[in-house]
Amino acid sequence: MTHPPESRRPHSRTAPAGTAVVPRSTRAPAPGWFHVASDASGWCVLLPESMGAEAIDEATATVLAAAESDPSRQHADADLLLHSLHVDADAARPRETERPPRPQVPLSHVALFLTDRCDLRCIYCYERERLPDHRTDMTTETAELAVDWLFAQSGAEREVGISFFGGEPLLNLDALQAAARRAEALARQTGKSLRLGMTTNGTHLDDRALDLVVGHGIETVVSLDGSREVHDRQRPRADGRGSYDEVAANAHRLLEVHPDTVCRATVMPGGDAMAVKQALTEIGFSRVLVSVASLPPGDLDGDAADEWGAALALDDLESEARAVEDAVTHRDTEALRQRRGSSRFLALLDQYATASKRHTHCGAGRGLAAVTTSGDVYPCQRFVYEPAYRMGTLTSGRPDRSVFHPCLQAADAACRTCHARYTCAGGCPHDNLVVTGSLNRAVPQRCAAARRENELAALVRSRLSAADLEFLFDGGFIRRRPCPLDLF
Ligand code: SF4
Ligand code: SF4
Repeated sequence: MTHPPESRRPHSRTAPAGTAVVPRSTRAPAPGWFHVASDASGWCVLLPESMGAEAIDEATATVLAAAESDPSRQHADADLLLHSLHVDADAARPRETERPPRPQVPLSHVALFLTDRCDLRCIYCYERERLPDHRTDMTTETAELAVDWLFAQSGAEREVGISFFGGEPLLNLDALQAAARRAEALARQTGKSLRLGMTTNGTHLDDRALDLVVGHGIETVVSLDGSREVHDRQRPRADGRGSYDEVAANAHRLLEVHPDTVCRATVMPGGDAMAVKQALTEIGFSRVLVSVASLPPGDLDGDAADEWGAALALDDLESEARAVEDAVTHRDTEALRQRRGSSRFLALLDQYATASKRHTHCGAGRGLAAVTTSGDVYPCQRFVYEPAYRMGTLTSGRPDRSVFHPCLQAADAACRTCHARYTCAGGCPHDNLVVTGSLNRAVPQRCAAARRENELAALVRSRLSAADLEFLFDGGFIRRRPCPLDLF
């Protein structure tokens, strides 16, 4: 294992040599019940089943890491050490039968495809091959019907969310306005809270669009891939011209009225995530979400796999973890506020701080659905127009969600013992399907980043004090759960 310098926190736990504690478990060793992680600041032992993370010293880390790499021989050592750290080894073991996610969680969030049209031809667009030749707009009637349907599906759920999607949603402002008005009226009638969002390519943020964004409080995400050179290469117009100048100018106008607007950037293999972030910060975005482009279909091997591995931007994960930890220890509320809702790392830290497990990677086909321009229903925006995943229509009653109820038991064997099984939870089902042919078979090229993110969140959590956690809860940067048993 690597040997980081002295842990800078005083409360790293030490399991004294020769601790006279009898291990309580004599069950066969099971891989994946603990994991040792380290970074430049120290070590921690991570306990997936309890979402626990304990800072430990180097000597303890060395013994536990050896036990982890060969659990059959060193099981007793690990049990002894964990027990001396007051870790309940039985509780830490992966369970044979894990509680499945609520199978019929109400469907309460929808991506509305207002149009199939788009003026850009992004090189990584997952819709390009699937969109119908005759690209249509959603009618205002269908938009209103979709909102009625969503409120009916949402049952007792207190929050309803609509994300305007496409194609480029701002090419159909009439449907957007109709849906927003209808949703606001129904939210008033039902007493539910409503979140409206939109992902736009930023080319059509004209005065009417801005008025609608501001008037309806639409949380807008602008897709912009970094510098002019990178953006124009990755997101050209249909005629090949670049779109950067127009999008950057429109982004300035939007930021004037909504300074918290999130920018989503996509990096391709070989891309430089830090340079992308820097370019977007210079435009004026304080909240930037960088993600790696969707993987191309089919198994990756050789050079292609290496290139995708490089695109995972592991360095970026390390610097984000450091930035969040520094912000907490220095009580930098502004830095945390800018990350709220756009930092995956803060979301993972929330999971560790509240012992909250994810049993599925996302809400696709469960709490989330996508509705096409003609009113067909799919599990999420990326499954749209894949015939095998059509779940019904706005008028065909309850959508068939059976295909989307896999939980971890049905998942890839690699996921069941992976230390990131309750934060990554199997990876994006659509990526899995496209690359491996199965919703549940993980894409190995994605795993390195998911596992490192999980380690970093556990490491930071293990170093946070009670006062640090209070600060995070009080600022609303992570959630305080009403009941300690409310883990699912
Ligand atoms: S997809 Fe990979 S990282 Fe995620 S839980 Fe499965 S094995 Fe772990
Ligand atoms: S399946 Fe993938 S793209 Fe769809 S909601 Fe889940 S994570 Fe997102």
